[in-house]
Amino acid sequence: MPQPATQVTESRPSTQTSLRLAVSSIVDFALPPACAFCTRDLQNDFEATVDGIALCGRCRKNFTSDERSPCFNCGMPVGPHVDTRDGCPECTRRDFRFNRVIRLGVYEDTLRTACIRGKSRGAEALAAGMASLLWKKQHQELDDFAPDVVVPVPQFWRHWFTRPHHQALTMAEVLGERLNCPCDERLVRKTRRTIDQSSLPRAKRLTNLKQVYAVAPKHKLKGQRVLIVDDILTTGTTSNELAKVIRKAGASDVAVAVIAVVP
Ligand SMILES: [Zn+2]
Ligand SMILES: [Zn+2]
Repeated sequence: MPQPATQVTESRPSTQTSLRLAVSSIVDFALPPACAFCTRDLQNDFEATVDGIALCGRCRKNFTSDERSPCFNCGMPVGPHVDTRDGCPECTRRDFRFNRVIRLGVYEDTLRTACIRGKSRGAEALAAGMASLLWKKQHQELDDFAPDVVVPVPQFWRHWFTRPHHQALTMAEVLGERLNCPCDERLVRKTRRTIDQSSLPRAKRLTNLKQVYAVAPKHKLKGQRVLIVDDILTTGTTSNELAKVIRKAGASDVAVAVIAVVP
């Protein structure tokens, strides 16, 4: 079976990512590249050949087919011609501590399947491909935000040993490379284990995450612009709790980048 293509980076990669890219380059040399989602051969795929993102034209189209405009603040789909500079009906009731959400699409259909599959064992190339596609579609928004540091939503340390891979970290590394800014997975840590947010009703999500994140003591964030990266945004509780501690540590602006928002 053909293997996913190597991600092409256009800026300084981290040591960890450089090593991974070097290894995958060797694999690509031996095996033909394939779409990281549907495994279609990419050797004759024009877009993949040009930008090096390991997703075929059909998958790219499926992942970006939603035409609904996003709310500037929370990323949720809104109707045409709706001014969301002060938020939408979904987020005006919430006191979000992040400035805005930048996303690839909506958690529906094929993009939903890809987000779920992106957490699986061996799905790093899919997670990286979706992050590259997010950058390609929203690079103007991401460049305009101009983060000083990119931070993946942290997982509890024990999960490093029990989960196949950390999708948010893979995505954050890719976005850091694309934006030519550091990705710091140690900047914020998760201090205790929590119940999976997706299994809880909205009202209990905040209690579940109360005081669970902490900025590492030696990190100085005064006046910094921080980009939080996660795979999906549901109620925004996770990103908001993270944004609270990041702002408390002195950050001036916080944005959230996700593959998909859950409407
Ligand atoms: Zn495909
Ligand atoms: Zn909104």
